[in-house]
Amino acid sequence: MKKIATLTSGGDSPGMNAAVRAIIRGGAHYGFEVIAVRHGYKGLINGDFTDVEHTDVSGIIQRGGTVLKSARSEEFRTKEGREKAAAQLKDRGVDALIVIGGDGTFRGATLLSQEHNIATIGVPATIDNDLIGSDETIGYDTALNTAMEAIDKIRDTADAHERLFFVEVMGRDAGFIALETGIASGAEIIVLPEYLTSTDDIRESLNRILKVHKRSTLVVIAEGDQTGGAINISQALQSDFEDYEMRVAILGYIQRGGNPTARDRVLATRLGFEAVKAFHDGHSQVMVGIINNEVKLTPLKDTFGKIKEINHDLVALAKILR
Ligand code: ATP
Repeated sequence: MKKIATLTSGGDSPGMNAAVRAIIRGGAHYGFEVIAVRHGYKGLINGDFTDVEHTDVSGIIQRGGTVLKSARSEEFRTKEGREKAAAQLKDRGVDALIVIGGDGTFRGATLLSQEHNIATIGVPATIDNDLIGSDETIGYDTALNTAMEAIDKIRDTADAHERLFFVEVMGRDAGFIALETGIASGAEIIVLPEYLTSTDDIRESLNRILKVHKRSTLVVIAEGDQTGGAINISQALQSDFEDYEMRVAILGYIQRGGNPTARDRVLATRLGFEAVKAFHDGHSQVMVGIINNEVKLTPLKDTFGKIKEINHDLVALAKILR
């Protein structure tokens, strides 16, 4: 009987539990023994394994976070750390490791495979949606909806007065969350790391918008933008818009939390199962993804280190409709 181990690693994202469930049950479907590792690579190095049965993953599909706990491990970044991790897997007769996480997790898995000849399969889970090889990553849709709902509430109060709202959303170096929440919440200006924007550009756009209709205006800013974030931008513009009350909101970690949306649960369920199937079909060092609603395998090493393109048509559309 072949044996699979699975873990969640890096920043947690809503939907990871649905992926764990699909891996445990998908493994049983293919006749594999599946064991879980708690606390990501840290737990792997320390031998923090746990047996999981079909019923152990009941009632977790709707829960945010990860029942396996996630962790960051400096030791796993070293050759010696990965040697310890490989020894733990080999001691338990594990044939394949399915890792659920983001680019750092995949970098680590790639090295583990190369150095110790252990089969690895990646399941893309990060709210940032910055991995190549899947249109969306697990947790992205939930983060989008959380950010949008928060912005809706901010909008309600903004409409009562003439205010300029600067809302910063997560996404690390990528603007996916900012672009789509900006569009979904009708933001007048969306500031993205993929486009060089200066405070002068924002000032000019605001002046143009406010000249047409003097009303509350929403600017959504991606945390990774080079202009320096919502606080810096609002401070730089304060003296230019004295008639307006300025409000700054940094949404932060609420975007990682909450129950996964239906879309994330379905995505995670598909990808978890497909990861097991990929190993069953003889693949290793690949990430499972969904592109245009079809399952695709991408070599793990090609999923990170390059910039995933945002949808430039959507950027243009947001500008037309503001
Ligand atoms: P997220 O995108 O949500 O932050 P992530 O998987 O990118 O998720 P990281 O903290 O970057 O999160 O990586 C998770 C773990 O993967 C790290 O704690 C480390 O153990 C391992 N890792 C990251 N980068 C490397 C690397 N270059 N070499 C070996 N291991 C790595």
